[in-house]
Amino acid sequence: MKDGIKIFSILGIDVKLHYSWWFIFILLSWSLSASFFPLYFPGYSTGTYWLMGIAASLLLFISVLLHELSHSLMARIRKIKVKSITLFFFGGVAGIDTEDLKPSSEFLMAISGPLFSLILGGMFYLIYLSDGQGVITAIAFYLYQLNLILALFNLVPGYPLDGGRAFRAVLYAYYKDLVKATAIASQVGKIFAGFLIIFGFIGIFTGSGGGLWFMLIGGFLYFIAGLSYQQVVAKSILEKIKVKDIMKTRIIALNPEMMLSEFIKKYADYEDNLFLIKNNQVQGIIDVDLLAPIKPEYQSKTPLIKLALPLRNIPAVDKNASAYRALQLLSGCGANAIPVLDKNKVAGIITQRILLNRMAWELKFRGGQLRKSRINH
Ligand SMILES: [Zn+2]
Repeated sequence: MKDGIKIFSILGIDVKLHYSWWFIFILLSWSLSASFFPLYFPGYSTGTYWLMGIAASLLLFISVLLHELSHSLMARIRKIKVKSITLFFFGGVAGIDTEDLKPSSEFLMAISGPLFSLILGGMFYLIYLSDGQGVITAIAFYLYQLNLILALFNLVPGYPLDGGRAFRAVLYAYYKDLVKATAIASQVGKIFAGFLIIFGFIGIFTGSGGGLWFMLIGGFLYFIAGLSYQQVVAKSILEKIKVKDIMKTRIIALNPEMMLSEFIKKYADYEDNLFLIKNNQVQGIIDVDLLAPIKPEYQSKTPLIKLALPLRNIPAVDKNASAYRALQLLSGCGANAIPVLDKNKVAGIITQRILLNRMAWELKFRGGQLRKSRINH
């Protein structure tokens, strides 16, 4: 529920609205009724413009929803589970682990959305042509353009746009190397984002309008392209490593009743930042980096157990799980460290730093080798 409100369920897929949706909906309805429709279709009353604005915004939302559903429907056809779709106003995020897909599945799933938008755009274009000069014509005029933009923008072959996913699938089928395919496709995504930023920049200086929007979309796309690539790299490295091979087992265990003042005195020179709170059984983790400052007069009255991250609030990872699973759990909970379990007993700790160091290490010393051996496939 963190990412949005569920509005309905279809084919077992929960459709959620992201919180930003309402804001954009109001903003869009307002800008359509205050400027777009009066400019292109003059002569109506303010109330009519508002109705047109709201209707057009809702229909645009339905268009985006249908675009997203056609991705999910294709996933269903290819026997891939889709848990949920979270809709932002201009797009959505489907709850699918797309990194494990067959190239053919990813390709079909990726292009089904833009293709459906093209069909919708064509339908609205026909309505626009056939009606004449009424309110419906005005709304169809807006929607055929928006659906066309939605289709064309998403067909740009830059990862993680739909076209980029399709392009990556083709590269993946050709090179048999997901990391390499993602690297190329997300590079195209970054180049496209760069063009948007430059285009927006020129727009701002020449006053041709929309410049800031282009820069924002470009900046966002650039960021997402980089992030998506890093995720694929992280997964390819970490899923081959077991948690038990990199976890930290030598951790100082402290008495839960030890006062903070004593801890500060005793462990000032200790270079690690993590401690277990233990009294026969592990009760929590002290992460020095996350400790809030406590006034000196209270330090001798505060036992460590009160400052520890309680174990029940942190997810644990099995020692036989992959390091990638640990990364997912860590980034989902916001802690710097999570316990590693061996048959329900804490056997060690895994931290963000361990994972990052290991990734940097593999990239530095094994990256070139990995790439070479894969090309020879
Ligand atoms: Zn799409």
